[in-house]
Order: sequence, then structure tokens, then C-alpha cells
Amino acid sequence: MSITTDRTITPRRTAAEVARAESRTAHNYHPLPVVLSHAEGAWVTDVDGRRFLDLLAGYSALNFGHGHPRLLAAAHAQLDKVTLTSRAFVHDRFADFCAALGDLCGKDLVLPMNTGAEAVETAIKVSRRWGYDVKGVAPDSARVVVAAGNFHGRTTTIVGFSDDPDARGGFGPFAPGFDMVPYGDLAALEAAITPSTVAVLIEPIQGEGGVIIPPAGYLRGVRDLCTRSEVLFVADEIQAGLGRTGRTFACDHEGVVPDLYVLGKALGGGIVPVSAVVGDHDVLDVLKPGQHGSTFGGNPLACAVGLEVVDMLGTGELQAQAEQLGGILAGRLDALLGHGVVSYRSRGLWAGVDVDPALGTGREVCERLMARGVLAKDTHGSTIRLAPPLVITPEDLHWGLDQLAAVLV
Ligand SMILES: *Cc1c(COP(=O)(O)O)cnc(C)c1O
Repeated sequence: MSITTDRTITPRRTAAEVARAESRTAHNYHPLPVVLSHAEGAWVTDVDGRRFLDLLAGYSALNFGHGHPRLLAAAHAQLDKVTLTSRAFVHDRFADFCAALGDLCGKDLVLPMNTGAEAVETAIKVSRRWGYDVKGVAPDSARVVVAAGNFHGRTTTIVGFSDDPDARGGFGPFAPGFDMVPYGDLAALEAAITPSTVAVLIEPIQGEGGVIIPPAGYLRGVRDLCTRSEVLFVADEIQAGLGRTGRTFACDHEGVVPDLYVLGKALGGGIVPVSAVVGDHDVLDVLKPGQHGSTFGGNPLACAVGLEVVDMLGTGELQAQAEQLGGILAGRLDALLGHGVVSYRSRGLWAGVDVDPALGTGREVCERLMARGVLAKDTHGSTIRLAPPLVITPEDLHWGLDQLAAVLV
């Protein structure tokens, strides 16, 4: 293996792997030209032996970093026992996982799925069913209110209520039953709620949208409005939840508890896809046997890893670390305002950074960061999302932000 330190040129092995991947995969992604083969903590290594600091962390799926020893141990131990049973039978990791996750959320019941999009779909199904069985909405007329700028996944139903032309364009016809309101606007939300509305589905912070934080009081207002209108508050905490913002859930910042938590990404510890919808009896009891399911949902390996994730969050240490490191992140970004950074939004160890368009697109800034040994991802236009693993050291975080400062001149 050749060790190349100059990251501005693409080494031969990397170039070959990138070309081979390009030639044999659908082009639904445009990855940076780096081919990773090993990772530990906040650092990844590529096939040419170059090391990079990972400031994306699998879009928050790697909140605990790469290869966390506790998560690896839990996965390894489970691999030798049983990995899949299907839900036709019960397995011995299932109750522990559901109980622990339910307790973390302060809720009665857990409905495990695999990917985030599946969990969102599940929450929509549950909400509609609750609307018909409990609220008494007329058959096939249930409506769900969503927010502009949302990102809830890639299924046909979900992209149908996106306002991102790339996400939805050319994929219709779409499922009806969704109403869109501006994010952060309580009056618009109130006006959109009708007697047929069964749920308000929002991200407490819009991740894909560029780490968009709603005005203070918004989540509390959504909660009150939903309670008053007999509508379920469904919080998609797939990216914002599980420690990222310095609290277990982004909703915690306003002391708000939704009716349904939708979780994913970090729940699988960066090892396996694990998602879940978490709620109380009064809502989740509407599902009866045969009405919903998943071959892999709640499998033993997923439960073993998910249980370890929940245990690690149980102490509050990681949340505290996210908050502390978030102070460093915000401080450094403050100093960059007017020096290549036009504006930024951050909460905990999570930031959306709007770079001066004169310095290049977000993609170009990320390419320059890569050349300096930092991996990050642009989201829309000239916005870069920073979501380092919560286990990053302050020194590494400072170093990564030094590189950001260096490419913004
Ligand atoms: C990533 C994400 C999803 C979709 O999760 P997948 O596992 O990619 O299906 C849904 N909602 C939010 C807020 C997300 O960030």
C-alpha cells in the first residue's frame, strides 16, 4: 500500500475504485472521490492509506464514532448466538431492547423497523389508523400536515410530500392526504389543521434542509396545538435525536414530548440499520396482528446493537459531551462569520454552515476540505453540514475547524 500525503491529487488505487464503482452502480449519489477501507472513532482511512477526519458521521448514524468498542462487542457476541428469527417467533433480545428504548423515550411501546423511511411510513400508517379508529375520521380521508423543506426519506409516499424538486420530480403519481405548511410558522399550522387531520409530522430540527432550527417556542406551540386539536404530534428525530443536539431528543430543548418518536440512524450504532416508532398504548395499540410488519425489523442483531446504543445514552454522558463540544463548534463558527461564513445554525454538535458563495459551491468547499484531510458534506447550494461523531476529541474538532478556516480564504 502506498502512503500518499498530498491529498490534492487522486492516487491511482482511489481513481481506479471510483471509476469502477461509477461504471457499475446507478448514479443516485455523487460521492467525493475517496475510497474508505478502515475507520476508528472519528477517523477514516482510504485504500491509499490517507487518513481523514469524518465530520459527517454517516449523517448522524455514527454518533458514537466508527467501531465503538462497546457496540462492536455487543454485535460480535450476538453474531455467535442468533442473528435473525423473523417476528414469527420471539427472541431473547427483543423484550430488553423494546423496554430499554421505551424507557429512554418515556413511552410504553416500541415498534421496530429497519430504515428511517420505513419508520416514517410506519408512523403515517399508525396515525391514519388512529385517526379512523380513535378520532373517528371518515374512511380514507385522513390528512397529515408536514413542513416545507422537510426530509423524511425516499419512498414514493414520502417524496410525494417533499418540496425538493430533485427528491420528487418525475416520481409521481403521489399518495394524497398531505398538507404542507411553512416550517416554524404556528399560525399557518393552526390554519392547516382540519377535523380530518390526524397528525403533524415534523423534524424538530431540519437536518437535510441545512440544520434549520425553528423559532423558540415552536415545538411547544406544535405540542399545544396538537393536544387542543386532537391531532398526533409525530417527531421525526431520525437525524436530530439520540444525543446529537446535546440532549437525548431535539424536542427536549423545549421540554416537549411528542405522541410518536420516529427514530433511526444512530439507533443502529453505525453497524446495522435499526429504526423504530415509539409511543404509548393509546396510539400504538391500534395495530393488530397482520396489519404491519417487516422481515428484518427487530431482529436479534439489531436489538443487541440497539440495546447497547440505548444503554450508552442512558447515562447522559454522550449528550453532555455533545453539548460541550457544541460550544467549541459554535465558538469557532462565530469567529468565521464574515471570514468565508455568511451565517450558520448550530445546536449541540451539529451545524449548518452557509459559506460565502463567492468562495465556491458547498461541493467545492468539501473537495477542498477533503484535500486537507477532512470529510464533510454539502447539503443545499453553499450550505455545509457538520455532524462530527460525538466521541471526537476537542483537539481533533479544533483541527477540523482549522481546516475549514483554511479553505474559506
Ligand atoms: C435520514 C433521514 C430519514 C430517512 O432515513 P433512511 O434510513 O435513509 O431511510 C428520515 N428522516 C430524517 C429526518 C432523516 O434525516
